[in-house]
Amino acid sequence: MDATVELAQELIRRPSVTPDDAGCQAHIAELLSATGFHTESLVFGDVTNLWARHGDAAPLIVFLGHTDVVPPGPLSDWTTPPFVPTIKDGMLYGRGAADMKGAVAAFVQALIAFVRHHPAHRGSVGLILTSDEEGVARDGTVQVLRTLAARGESIDYCVVGEPSCSEFLGDTVKHGRRGSLNGDLVIHGIQGHVAYPERADNPIARFAPALQALVSTVWDAGSTDFPPTRLQFSNIQAGTGADNVIPGSLRALFNLRYAPTTPAPILRERIEQVLAAHGLRYTLTWRLSGEPFLTGDGPLKTALAASIGAETGREPAYSTAGGTSDGRFVAPFGTEVLEFGPLNASIHKVNEAVGVGDLARLTRIYEGTLERLLGA
Ligand SMILES: [Zn+2]
Repeated sequence: MDATVELAQELIRRPSVTPDDAGCQAHIAELLSATGFHTESLVFGDVTNLWARHGDAAPLIVFLGHTDVVPPGPLSDWTTPPFVPTIKDGMLYGRGAADMKGAVAAFVQALIAFVRHHPAHRGSVGLILTSDEEGVARDGTVQVLRTLAARGESIDYCVVGEPSCSEFLGDTVKHGRRGSLNGDLVIHGIQGHVAYPERADNPIARFAPALQALVSTVWDAGSTDFPPTRLQFSNIQAGTGADNVIPGSLRALFNLRYAPTTPAPILRERIEQVLAAHGLRYTLTWRLSGEPFLTGDGPLKTALAASIGAETGREPAYSTAGGTSDGRFVAPFGTEVLEFGPLNASIHKVNEAVGVGDLARLTRIYEGTLERLLGA
């Protein structure tokens, strides 16, 4: 059987629900050590991370991924058990098959194959794996990058293995991501009896027109590389449960996925202006979960595109759509970062799966990218 498929099965068998790595990284470290990689486990809080490197010189190209998976949900919804890897009709089923144990297995086998073919390669190749990408992402990639930067290990090129393709392997590369800004808003009113509204101040009635104004605001028109900025409310709560009490406050959570055209400080200001214009008394707490980034043309983009073309005959489209990824932590270091992985149709769903043939091709694409950058 193909080495990547075999390793992917080995990883799926370990129920590594965030932040538990369940031994995935130790298994990978063993494989890489046997090939001459220097490997190191970096533990922060309850999060296990793996750093592996072969070579000391620049440039350094790093594969970035995660061994944790989202919970499987009710087991009865799965056709086959989520942590029992099952191959059926050319697909490998199991939690994490597509997001992203398949790509992690492809990374590892590509690194091993590359080092075997080029024991004295130029530059360095490396792998960063975290076990909290699907969680709060506080003690994972961010901390590893800080540790490496403090040691002077700077990453020139980074490929993130998140599932980027939609219809066919090779159809999409993510070359940036929108920013993500969260607001936690409390509207203050005065609690009272519904029969005596003149003695109360209803935060629901006060907030309704402001809510309408916020959701209908056009923040920007986007750009060639980014869709327009969007605001979505995700939670709204008010009331005691009793039908004769005007609540004293209302709490609403919202998120903005934003294009770099409208930076976060501008968005914050505009939103506060809307709230002020509606005469609201409020408390608003902001949390920025990711700055937007965009990767321009560079050697990695050229190498990855050529490698995808050679293996699939496709010319990938470049997109910034979708959720944030750990790529957002890498970009600020000046690293050329791109995301390329398998099809994303089944991620975070029941019966998650990846094409068996795609895993072999993905491995050759990753290896081909290393060849083109460092093999000469
Ligand atoms: Zn993922």
